[in-house]
Amino acid sequence: MAEDETVLFGSLEECIKSLRDHEIQTNTRYTVGYSSKGFGKRSTGSNIVNNKRVQWLNGKPFISLGLKVYFCHHGKNYRPNNNARTPKEHGYSKGGRVRAQQTKKLGCPAKVLIKEGVMLPASHPIQDNTKAELAASLIDLAATGEYTCCYYMCLPDLEKHKFHETGISSGLSQNIDRGLVHKINELVDEGVSDTDEMERRLRSHVLETENVTPAPTSKRFFPNRNTIRNHMRNAEKTKQTSIDDETNLEGFLNRWKQDNTRDIVFLRKKGETEKFLFVYQSFGMKTLLERYGNTMTLLDATYRTTKYHLPLFFLVVKTNVDYQVVACFIPEEENSVSEQEALQIIKDHNPNWSPKHFMTDMDEREMHAMRSLFPGGLLVLLVM
Ligand SMILES: [Zn+2]
Repeated sequence: MAEDETVLFGSLEECIKSLRDHEIQTNTRYTVGYSSKGFGKRSTGSNIVNNKRVQWLNGKPFISLGLKVYFCHHGKNYRPNNNARTPKEHGYSKGGRVRAQQTKKLGCPAKVLIKEGVMLPASHPIQDNTKAELAASLIDLAATGEYTCCYYMCLPDLEKHKFHETGISSGLSQNIDRGLVHKINELVDEGVSDTDEMERRLRSHVLETENVTPAPTSKRFFPNRNTIRNHMRNAEKTKQTSIDDETNLEGFLNRWKQDNTRDIVFLRKKGETEKFLFVYQSFGMKTLLERYGNTMTLLDATYRTTKYHLPLFFLVVKTNVDYQVVACFIPEEENSVSEQEALQIIKDHNPNWSPKHFMTDMDEREMHAMRSLFPGGLLVLLVM
């Protein structure tokens, strides 16, 4: 078996760049597995070398300060139950599509080691000194704090890769490069909206910027059209969403109000003393509530179904066909005051609404809100 290759670098950037070139040349890919605290962030410092042992790398003394390990992307699966963690029940959870291949982790043992540390400068005479003297000079140098960290990278031989294809076909299992995703964002901002055009521009970008020309099968640098299209769509979505979601929502609701003047749209933005509240009832919903709401109305809350940690309430009636949502509201907090306030707004806009029965969860706050809103004769039913 061929020996692993060890290379010395003067800076971490050079080292990472070289790793990238190695990945392209060998059509392999690595992901960060372990990184010691502060790795790559210290350039000088005196007290950190206390009690550190002097090692010998390629016949030169070296004090190790940190270590970073990259595993082959087909390496051991450290999160075997990762999929089980995300709830699949609601539409918002990501990764809901069926995957023909459960995981690409195959337990490949290949890894890249990068050691960060201190070395004697190249000008320091090596031959004339004994090992002990060299070690002592290195410790002295480190103690002054005036040194620049160097990086030793140990690249595995291709034969170290196990349980997966290597060579030309291995590029098929690689994800798109992060740099390309940034490039897609940039190009979408510039106005590129055609997938063919995007593919052409990305191809020439890769050929211009990479030191090594990637294999044509590499999906990392030459992703397929579906991947490109998905990332273009994501880029367009991010362009639309401003950092301030409330401002977005306000603009969106104003458009709604203009387009559908008979809808009830209430929004109170979060202020210093005021709490966020959103109430919505379309004209169609209002009609249904008037027609079917006076016998029985149901109130149902959902939790953690949106990306915000806000409860979402639905007011539901039974129509002649099925159950229909007749109003919805999102309070900032789930308590009887907020619920009562939202229901009051709905009630004010629906003066004829006076249900005989109200069905709700086994929740004291909701029951309290109902009773105070519709005093006298209201029967609150509970869903256990
Ligand atoms: Zn591997």
